[in-house]
Amino acid sequence: MGLEDSHLYKDSLHALKQAADIINLDPNIFERLRYPKRAIQVAVPIRLDDGTIQTFQGFRVQHNMSLGPGKGGIRFHPSLGLSETAALAMLMTFKCALVGLPLGGAKGGVQCDPNDLSRQELQALTRRYCLEIAPFIGPDIDIPAPDIGTDAQTMAWFMDTYSQINGHAIPGVVTGKPLVLGGSMGRTSSTGKGVAMCVQFASKKIDLNLCESRVAIHGFGKVAVPAALDLKALGAKIVAIGDITGGYFNPEGIDLDSAISHVKKHRFLKGLANVETISNEDLLELDVDVLIPAAIDGVINAKNANRVKAKIIAEAANGPLTNDATEIVSRNGAFIIPDILCNAGGVIVSYFEWVQGLQHFFWRLDEVNKKLSDILRVSFEQVYENSQKYHINMKQAGVISALQRLEGTCRLRGLFPG
Ligand code: NAD
Repeated sequence: MGLEDSHLYKDSLHALKQAADIINLDPNIFERLRYPKRAIQVAVPIRLDDGTIQTFQGFRVQHNMSLGPGKGGIRFHPSLGLSETAALAMLMTFKCALVGLPLGGAKGGVQCDPNDLSRQELQALTRRYCLEIAPFIGPDIDIPAPDIGTDAQTMAWFMDTYSQINGHAIPGVVTGKPLVLGGSMGRTSSTGKGVAMCVQFASKKIDLNLCESRVAIHGFGKVAVPAALDLKALGAKIVAIGDITGGYFNPEGIDLDSAISHVKKHRFLKGLANVETISNEDLLELDVDVLIPAAIDGVINAKNANRVKAKIIAEAANGPLTNDATEIVSRNGAFIIPDILCNAGGVIVSYFEWVQGLQHFFWRLDEVNKKLSDILRVSFEQVYENSQKYHINMKQAGVISALQRLEGTCRLRGLFPG
């Protein structure tokens, strides 16, 4: 598959072109942003528990580093490819620019199903992947973080491997680390917390009373769970949740604590009590006020967009709405919170973790959450203002807000050699 072949890359490029046209972006800046700066593909051979060797495909793409070191998650997922990774790296460039971080856009991962691998095999995979991309990353170059299928333990193995290669501890090579290794308070829940904050901001814009609202969440992982808990605390009723095994619905509200314990015990939501099992497709089309796609990309597309009824669609995942779907749901009056804003809480607190690590001085949880809320509020307003000024949907406005920052930086730094 070529670099530009995935639907996510095509969609991201199309969104960039659309936004560039609206603000008459300098064509030379567009030309630089349409390609990643560096796209690396590596073989990741590991010895499985049965003694055989299996080779996995690994990727790291650095899209644009004009604003600072690359930043972006590591994904372990069976369908990950170079093109999708490149698209996700482009989204990270937009996201970091939009929320005003001194960081560029990157993304990486390994094509594998982590559910099929033992803990030992996952450790071997993480360490070998780290070794293969080590020459291209570092605290001042490119700083990975968790994404789908990876977590704080993955980051700890990654940090240890990178440190072993270099002969001393280098915690700044990753964020999303466990607290004892230099992680930040609040990082684990930051993406979901940011999603809930953005839903709050959006509900004010459309006069939706969150206390009387019904919410459906697609996905029940690191992003979805804290978002669900925070929205419930704000008075919303979480009527549906879902994971790779299906959708689970209760019109009276899902017992989130039971669902969390169930997943801890059984890994998946399948078998959860006091819910009606529905399909993930049905979950996305439920008659709810707020829909939060928090699993994978492309789930709302030209086929089902017309049947989506939610008033607010909060893109907690990266790219859950295709371009076609964005146009359809916007036309139908839905308020979209774009991924590069909605799930930016994670990279914002990753940035805090990086800053705290560099200063060897760590902040309290309330300080982290206050700073997170301040940045997201300002960014949300900026995107909203652009949507009003240009009469466009929030998704287009988000890319415009990012380009407004990137354009100045790229122009001031110029091109080497000139
Ligand atoms: P995760 O691995 O913790 O959870 C993913 C969830 O999605 C799981 O519940 C899984 O069962 C479900 N899922 C996977 N494939 C599915 C499918 N085909 N249909 C339905 N459900 C499916 O991952 P996460 O970290 O929560 O990431 C979720 C999304 O949020 C991704 O798009 C990721 O890129 C994005 N994101 C994550 C972070 C972060 O800090 N973790 C930050 C920004 C964006």
